[in-house]
Amino acid sequence: MKHLFAAASIAALAASITTTSFAEEKTAWRLFVSDHAEPVINVVDALTGNKIDTLPLKGPASLYRSASGRTVFAVQGKADAVSAVSTGIAFEDHGDHGDIEVTAPRLTGTEITGTKPSHFVEHGGEFALFFDGEGVARILDEKTALEGGTGVREVKTEAPHHGVAAVFGDYVLSSAPNREKPDELPVGIRVTDRAGKQIGNIHACPDLHGEATSGRLLAFACATGLLLVRDGDNGPSIEHLPYPASPSGKATTLLGGKGLQYFLGNYGADRLLLIDPSAKDMFRQVDLPTRRVHFAVDPIRPRFAYAFTEDGQLHQVDIVAGKIAQSVKLTDAYSMDGHWSDPRPRIAVAGDRIAVTDPLKSQLHLVDAIGFARTGDIPLAGKPFNIVAVGGSGETHATE
Ligand code: ZN
Ligand code: ZN
Repeated sequence: MKHLFAAASIAALAASITTTSFAEEKTAWRLFVSDHAEPVINVVDALTGNKIDTLPLKGPASLYRSASGRTVFAVQGKADAVSAVSTGIAFEDHGDHGDIEVTAPRLTGTEITGTKPSHFVEHGGEFALFFDGEGVARILDEKTALEGGTGVREVKTEAPHHGVAAVFGDYVLSSAPNREKPDELPVGIRVTDRAGKQIGNIHACPDLHGEATSGRLLAFACATGLLLVRDGDNGPSIEHLPYPASPSGKATTLLGGKGLQYFLGNYGADRLLLIDPSAKDMFRQVDLPTRRVHFAVDPIRPRFAYAFTEDGQLHQVDIVAGKIAQSVKLTDAYSMDGHWSDPRPRIAVAGDRIAVTDPLKSQLHLVDAIGFARTGDIPLAGKPFNIVAVGGSGETHATE
């Protein structure tokens, strides 16, 4: 595989001549792809297109990667389990440079069980898994997940509901269910301390659904606006930011910008809402040509996010300009008519490549993030569906 990195290696070798070390630059990106129907994760080398391994699960999974990229969590809602995967790509800070260590991806053995796992939130290095069927959050850290541990701390809410929890320093934020109708969306956020004691009143957030972290901010989407959580003098400080008066709408999925502090949410079927809490013009709308299938932020080029629409196009959204900058057609039409969970494309950013799953064609499509042109396809049996990418570049030392 070494020849693939020839260009990078020559640059690294040229640099090493003056530094007398034998460090070599190495780049690795992996795609973790779940199947719409089968209980598996396929691991694909994003640079060569080769399949590295197929990891068995108990049920079809939603996938989440940790901020460090060392762990991928497979939330198997119908199999009542959440499994941890070591991605096999780890970075270590060596002060003036970073090292990359690449090993085989594997299931770590960590499997957190409970009824109907749903939302997954990482904040401050801790993962909160919410189990709707119990109304319970189970919290663990990355070390535990990588070592195959199953030690969790639990935060219980009043009733089973489609909820969410997030660790915030010494506190946990958890959804407060609708008391009369717990099968409807939660009505607010409750703050509890380490001992489980409630701090202050419930922060109202009608029809709470959707959450994200960006910079130091955590946000929840409500029917009326966003709940913004930041560090306060005595625990988390929570503020409600109402949506613009027109057009009316609400976000139910939120993503947090990486490198730029902003949130991106859905706002109607064919519109995105750009939220910059520090700007004078806090809310901007980005109109899409047709209904939205999926959207993702670019963790490497903070200026951009991507949206896939039902006409088969991938759009590059310029966050600064607040509009679509470029579009590329990738698939046949994927209508949003039908069930919300039907197999439809999903997006992940792997370095300079954007990967889009095409479940009905058993393929991943690759788009060059710089030129925004389609550069290739990777065949993958079955219905490739949810996808996350981990990787980057670092040094490996020939001698220590
Ligand atoms: Zn090093
Ligand atoms: Zn949900």
